[in-house]
Amino acid sequence: MRAYVIGNVAVDETISVSSMPEAGASILGREETRDLGGKGANQAVVMSRTGLPTTLVTAVGEDFRAQTIRDQLAEEQLQAHLVTLAGRSSDFSIIFTTPDGENAIVTTTDSAGSLTLAAALAPLDSADVGDLVVLQGNLAEEVTRGLLAEAKRRALVTAFNPSPLRPYFADLWPLVDIAFLNKGEAESLAGSSGETAARRLMEAGVKQVVLTLGGQGSMLAVDGKPIITIPAVSTKAVDTTGAGDTFMAVALASAALRGIEIDARAIADASAAASLTVSRRGTRSAFPTREELKAILAG
Ligand code: ATP
Repeated sequence: MRAYVIGNVAVDETISVSSMPEAGASILGREETRDLGGKGANQAVVMSRTGLPTTLVTAVGEDFRAQTIRDQLAEEQLQAHLVTLAGRSSDFSIIFTTPDGENAIVTTTDSAGSLTLAAALAPLDSADVGDLVVLQGNLAEEVTRGLLAEAKRRALVTAFNPSPLRPYFADLWPLVDIAFLNKGEAESLAGSSGETAARRLMEAGVKQVVLTLGGQGSMLAVDGKPIITIPAVSTKAVDTTGAGDTFMAVALASAALRGIEIDARAIADASAAASLTVSRRGTRSAFPTREELKAILAG
């Protein structure tokens, strides 16, 4: 079993501010960290640290950030399939964090949005039936749609995190086996939250729905089974960047490594891993280590 995470990679610049800037304001901040980020890279890095064989398919530009991205990915035990886009800049994020652990993120998607369907599909030629294809919301619409459709045609398992939100996500559900949504995404795409949102997504064709609710925990819905709710693991949150990505990667890997579909234990493992991420500043540097994940997954 291998996971193919197809998505964006970015250089994350985290700036701490006393409160979020308002429109028109000029405020002072302090650079906290410069780190590897981007939802695709985040999910691939965490997944690979669980020991699940992982391929990251992503795009970088031709600029100084591309080398940072290559260097940081080389430190991880994942297969990085980087498509270099001539004349483009690599993607980056500016992350504002406040003392209470809240964050606001601006991400450029010049590279991710320029990845073509053909380039994104090429690495899937080596995929076996049942392998995971993991997508987020940063690729172009035709690439996201094409990848999901092609993955289903090849009997691969599709996991989708509709973030950042785009309106067209609402009709992708029949192509999605496992969906991960936070509260805002559920409200926007399912017009509701909690159990009602999960039921609506399953009616639209999703087989398993995982809803995350920040410090309030998470919920797993599987067609025909009672809904499972799991509390968050209590911790002092200092920076929630990458919490959802950690959660999704560990939930998928916990189940895949045991050769089963996502269950309560996978969600509990994901909650434990995400609580570590929120307790540290940064993105890649805040993710649980291989040793920490080994201990979590050993239960
Ligand atoms: P982000 O965009 O910040 O990466 P998200 O909005 O996608 O995250 P959340 O629902 O905020 O996702 O969080 C995902 C999971 O991370 C939660 O279900 C929970 O297990 C864990 N988590 C988030 N915030 C906290 C917190 N304050 N304390 C403990 N665990 C948390």
